[in-house]
Amino acid sequence: MSQLGGIDRQRLRRLISSEERRFQDTTAASRAMYRRARDVLVGGVASSYQLGNPWPLYMTHGEGAGLWDVDGTRRSDYHGGFGAMVQGHAHPAIGRALQERYSRGTHFAAPTEDAVIVGEELTRRWGLAKWRYTNSGSESTMDAIRIARGFTGRELVIKIFGSYHGHHDAVMVAVGTGDSDDPFDPPELPYGAGIPGAVASLTVAVPFNDAAAMERRIERLDAEGRKPACVILEPTMMLGLVPPEPGYLEAVRDVTRRHGVVLIFDEVKTGLTVAAGGAVERYGVTPDLVTLAKALGAGLASGAIGGTEEVMSVVEDGTVLQVGTYNGNALGMAAARANLLEVLTPDAYARLDVLSSRMVAGCRAALEEHDLPGYALGIGARGCVTFASRRIRDYATMRIQHDPDLLRLTWLHATNRGLYLTPARPEQWTLSIAHTRADVDAYVEAFTELAQQLTILMRS
Ligand code: PMP
Repeated sequence: MSQLGGIDRQRLRRLISSEERRFQDTTAASRAMYRRARDVLVGGVASSYQLGNPWPLYMTHGEGAGLWDVDGTRRSDYHGGFGAMVQGHAHPAIGRALQERYSRGTHFAAPTEDAVIVGEELTRRWGLAKWRYTNSGSESTMDAIRIARGFTGRELVIKIFGSYHGHHDAVMVAVGTGDSDDPFDPPELPYGAGIPGAVASLTVAVPFNDAAAMERRIERLDAEGRKPACVILEPTMMLGLVPPEPGYLEAVRDVTRRHGVVLIFDEVKTGLTVAAGGAVERYGVTPDLVTLAKALGAGLASGAIGGTEEVMSVVEDGTVLQVGTYNGNALGMAAARANLLEVLTPDAYARLDVLSSRMVAGCRAALEEHDLPGYALGIGARGCVTFASRRIRDYATMRIQHDPDLLRLTWLHATNRGLYLTPARPEQWTLSIAHTRADVDAYVEAFTELAQQLTILMRS
C-alpha cells in the first residue's frame, strides 16, 4: 500500500521528470563542481549522506535562515546541516565567541573554563550529574554504549528497529535499508558492508512504542544467558517525526530499571531542539545516559555524553576509557558556551514554538483543503508532514506506507521553490531561530502548491 493509494503513477512520474529538468536547468554550477569534485572526492562528496541525485548542491555560504549554492540561488534552510543549525547560520554571538577564542588559541587537548561552564549548563538542563565531550553524534553513542557495557559487564545492545544512531558498527544494524519490499527487513541486518557479523549479532532490535515487546525480549535474552547491557533509543523517533505514545518512555524507564539494563536516550537530534533540556525536559523521563551532538556545537563538530554518578563511575575510576584528542576542544567549547548561554535561551524556544505552530497549522490546512491523507506534526524545531492513511508509530507502520516516488517529488518540488530540505525517508524540517513568519509562510505556500498538484493526480 502506498501513502496515496489512488494516485496516477504515470502522471506522478511525469511530474517528477519535469521537476528534475527544472532542477538540472537551474543548478549548472553545481553540476560543473560535481564533475570536478568526482576526480578527487569519492562520489564528489565528503560523506555518502551528501550524495545527490543527479548531483549534490554545492554551497558557498549561509546567513541566518538562508543558504546559497554555487549557482547563486538562495534557499530557506530547513535541512540545517542535518538538523544542527537551529541557531541559523553565522549567528553574531557564535562568531564573536569564535573570534575571541581564535586569537587566544584553539586547541590544547587540555580542559578550559568553557568546558566546565558548558558542563554546568548541561547538568542544569538535563539533571544528569556528570558529562564528557566528543566530536560527533556517532562518537557520543559509541562511547555511551561502551560505558554501559563497562558498567554492566555485558555485551548485548538493544536498539529500536529503524533508528539511526550513527556510523559505528554496534548501531549500523537494523536501521532498515528502505529498499527492500519487506517492511520487517531481517532484524539484525547490517546497514551496508564492512560490519562484522559477530558485531552485528550483538545488537538486537525491538519496535518503537512497545515497552511490553521490549520487556519480553529482555526476558528472553536473559533466559538465554545474553542479558543486554543497554537499551538505546531516540525519545522521539526521527522517521519523519514519531512521538512516544503516552506512557511509553515511563514504561521503558521502568522495564530497564527493573532488569538492571542501562537506558540511553540518544538526544543527538532531540537535544537542544525539542526543548532547552531536550526530550528529558519535554517528557519528564530521565535515562541513565544521554547523548548529544548536532545543535550543541552551533556549527562546530562537538558532542557530549551525560550520565548519572553511578554509571559514570566506571569512567571516573578508569575502568572505561572515554578519550579523544579533540574532546572538549577549546574552539568547540567556546561555541557551545555562547550557544547555550546567549543563543538557545528560553526566548529562542518560545520563538521556535510559535514558528512551529504556524508551520503545522499551515500544512494541516493544506492537507485538509486538498483532502489528502496525512498529517503534520511539530515539536520545537523539528517537524514534518507525513503522507499516510495510518498514523506512523514505528518502523513497520512507516515502511508499509513508504512511497519513494512521493518523497522524491516532495524534495524536488521544495528545492525548485527556494527551500532546502534533507532528502530523507519521511521528510523532516528543522526550524532555526533565524526563520521568520514570512519564511514559514513561504514554506506553507510551496507545500500547498504541492498538495494541489497531488490532488489533481489523485482525481485523474
Ligand atoms: N544519533 C542520531 C539520533 C542521529 O540522528 C545521528 C545523525 N543523524 C547520529 C546519532 C550520528 O551523528 P553524527 O552524524 O554526528 O555522527
